[in-house]
Amino acid sequence: MSNRAEPIRSVKGTRDLLPGETALWQRVEDEARRVFAAYNFREIRTPILEQTALFARSVGADTDIVTKEMYTFQDRDNESLTLRPEATASVVRAYIEHTLFNEGGIHKLYYLGPMFRRERPQKGRYRQFYQIGAEVLGSDHPTIDAEFLEMLALLLGRVGLTEYNLLLNSVGCPKCRAEYLKVLRHALDKVKDKMCGDCQRRAVTNPLRVLDCKVEADQPIIEKLPHILDHLCPECRQHFDCVTGELQQRGIPYEIAPRLVRGLDYYTRTTFEMTSGVLGAQNAFLGGGRYDGLSEMLGGPPTPGFGVAIGEDRLLLAVEQAAGLKLDAALDVFVAWMGDAARDPATQLVRTLRQQGLSAVWRIESNYEPAKLKKSLGLANKLGARFAVIIGEGELATGRWQVKDMAAGQQEEVEAGRVLAYLREKLQKG
Ligand code: AMP
Repeated sequence: MSNRAEPIRSVKGTRDLLPGETALWQRVEDEARRVFAAYNFREIRTPILEQTALFARSVGADTDIVTKEMYTFQDRDNESLTLRPEATASVVRAYIEHTLFNEGGIHKLYYLGPMFRRERPQKGRYRQFYQIGAEVLGSDHPTIDAEFLEMLALLLGRVGLTEYNLLLNSVGCPKCRAEYLKVLRHALDKVKDKMCGDCQRRAVTNPLRVLDCKVEADQPIIEKLPHILDHLCPECRQHFDCVTGELQQRGIPYEIAPRLVRGLDYYTRTTFEMTSGVLGAQNAFLGGGRYDGLSEMLGGPPTPGFGVAIGEDRLLLAVEQAAGLKLDAALDVFVAWMGDAARDPATQLVRTLRQQGLSAVWRIESNYEPAKLKKSLGLANKLGARFAVIIGEGELATGRWQVKDMAAGQQEEVEAGRVLAYLREKLQKG
């Protein structure tokens, strides 16, 4: 009988991202940081743990996230804590807590990190997933909205995603939304008995949520409900027209989606989502909008805001499907040495190549134990090395190392002191 213990598996809905995948994640994150910097965004890092009340107040007590999906627990001192299901609330909390508003002007912030929602796992839907998000605090100008969407288009282009839809709507302000809700409630009164249980409840508690319903049988009924865009007040209408006008000027295509109210309570005016046909059922890979009342809901001064949360897991799926980015994590140089006398010069060369190659991110590897040339070159090949430097007895005698171009199969003798310069030139060309 073996006494080997049962292996422990990862938690349902969570997953390990293995080295074969993380290279692409890093590339996408690098591009995001670069594009955000170009638009003058700066990074903010907030805790993963927050007080439960933060999300109950901001995301909304009657949303799926708060009622069914949060990982909430009583801490040892009985405080109720939650693993963040999203980060906009945290960013605005931090903005208020650290009185960033006292600095005046517009704050442009971005974040990257894991979020937690206890949803039913499926492709593109996980219980721990990753978002790349950005927020602009301090202006309600429609140019903010349009410029932000332009920034997202640039980012998507940079990661090789060109086929997607930008869906756009306005959910108005508290004033016109209240009027619209009256009209919607009235319309729902007549049809809600034919709808699913959730919709019957929402028709009373939070009628806007009915528009989010995914139940197939309810769709024809929802299609006929009045549209919020037809009930915007003049200010919200003008704001929306400015946003769409600027998008046209900037050459950014969009589609009006009158049902797009999004699952969180804090949105005002512009809401948007981007979807990709290659993603299947979970086709939205990012979403966001304007949230001009959120700061006040969280006890801060009136501060208009606009933001996005990019679902990084889904963006990656879409990028992979579109074969947008090809990554090469292959080795640049393998230093193969034979015999104890070659150990020191090989170790020195490896160190020099690693230090000098840092700015170009060269990948350097070597054998750790003395090994036969054939075995070392076999390993170099397996690791996809572009060059192998060979240091053995013969090379030590002449002070000239052999440098082999692995793909071409050609070999040249290079003076030991010139190997770095030689490789730099060769690697730059490739
Ligand atoms: P939300 O915070 O709900 O507006 O979501 C923003 C984006 O995050 C969505 O468009 C999805 O791409 C992504 N997302 C939300 N929930 C999940 C999840 N459970 N698993 C993977 N991605 C998610």
